Parts: sequence; C-alpha cells; structure tokens
Amino acid sequence: MERTEKLLSMALRTREIIVWQIVQERALDLISCASWVAPTRKNNKATSNIRENLCTKILMAEPQCIQLGFVEPLEEGESFLTFPHKVGGLPVWLVPKNFPSPEQLRCGRCDVVMPLLLQIYAPLSGANVNAFHRTIYIFSCMNGYCVRHHPRKSYKVLRAQLPKVNPYYQPNSDSESDDAWIPLLHARSCPVCGLCGQFQCAGCHTMRYCSKEHQREDWAFHKSECTEFKELGECV
Ligand SMILES: [Zn+2]
Ligand SMILES: [Zn+2]
Ligand SMILES: [Zn+2]
Repeated sequence: MERTEKLLSMALRTREIIVWQIVQERALDLISCASWVAPTRKNNKATSNIRENLCTKILMAEPQCIQLGFVEPLEEGESFLTFPHKVGGLPVWLVPKNFPSPEQLRCGRCDVVMPLLLQIYAPLSGANVNAFHRTIYIFSCMNGYCVRHHPRKSYKVLRAQLPKVNPYYQPNSDSESDDAWIPLLHARSCPVCGLCGQFQCAGCHTMRYCSKEHQREDWAFHKSECTEFKELGECV
C-alpha cells in the first residue's frame, strides 16, 4: 500500500511510473488505468485536481479492482482492423495519417523501436467534444533490462482523438459502440511495425515501409504479391 501510494503521488508529476507499476501488477490493471494515464495538454490546476481525485479513487479501490475488460481471442468476423482494443500486434491508428515514425518510439535506453503493448478505444464523448473518438496506445521495450531498470525510458503512451465530425469515421456513429470505430480509410503504415511508412516499395509503389530494414524483413511475404500489385496498379 505504501509503495503504491508513493508511486501514485509520483504519477501526479509523471505518467510513466504508473504504467510501470501496473505492468508489474497485472496486465488487466494496465488496461483499466490506461485512459487515466493519457497525456493531458493543459497542466492547469483543474487538471491536476482531477488527476488527484483519480489517484485517490485508485488508492481507495486497491487492490486493483477497476476492471474495464479482459483479454480474449477475436471472435469470428472480427479483425484487427475493426476491433478497437487489442494487446500486441500492430497498432491500428485512429487517425490514419500523421501517425508516429519509428524515431518517436525508440526506447530511451537501448534505442530499439518499441512494439505495441496494447491499444484501447476510450472515447470521452460526453466530457470533451474533441474526444468523441479517442484511442490510447502503449508501447513498451522488449528488453527486460530496460523495463526493469529504466521504466521511464522504456514505455511510451500516446493518445489520438477526433471530434464526432471528421473525415475518417461516420459522423452519425455512436462512439460507445465498437462499430463507431470502423475507419473509412486505413493508415498506410509499415506492415512490420505499423509505424509511418515513409518509403514505397520500388516494385509495386503500393506497399510502404518505415525503413529499408523492415522492407527486407517483409520481402519473403511481399515478394509474391509485389508483381500482382504492380499489375493491378491498385492502392492498398
Ligand atoms: Zn530498451
Ligand atoms: Zn517498420
Ligand atoms: Zn512491392
């Protein structure tokens, strides 16, 4: 309890530590706290009061009994492109453009690009008109040493949000429903890491990669479809 209290008070100043704490506890608790640890643009008194209240609530609720969901396999008909919450795999970006580059998601200790730990669709439809759609992404280094000894450098939490009327989702959708998340346009991201695909495949001009390294890594899969894409001349 004492340790948790200390960590939570530190969390008022830095959100990374709470992510670390929760990772140590249970993945489930990470899911429950992820929307709380979302970065806030304004660090004014009102925001800090809200955060303090949330801290108190979490303390009162100990041991970690805020349950927003649990991990289970996809059901038939669901795919990683349509299901808004996921653990592992590639990030599915809420805003299918201007998403992060690998440089923004490097571990602060070992410099390796961090993979997605989980993403959660956590809309604030009533509280904030600009967060009608809202997704939290948590990236974590795969190196156990970084995570154990340099937690502040080896996790990154990103938030993406959109108002109800936007170019990517149906404006009449209900954000409480997962269906609201189905995008009209998919991000043109690197198929290996899911980050910004700034380089095109020179063969088909369709696939996009973040780096030469990931293009090489994907070539065994892409080789057969590259000619096909080239012939079709289609955009994915
Ligand atoms: Zn690392
Ligand atoms: Zn990549
Ligand atoms: Zn190609």
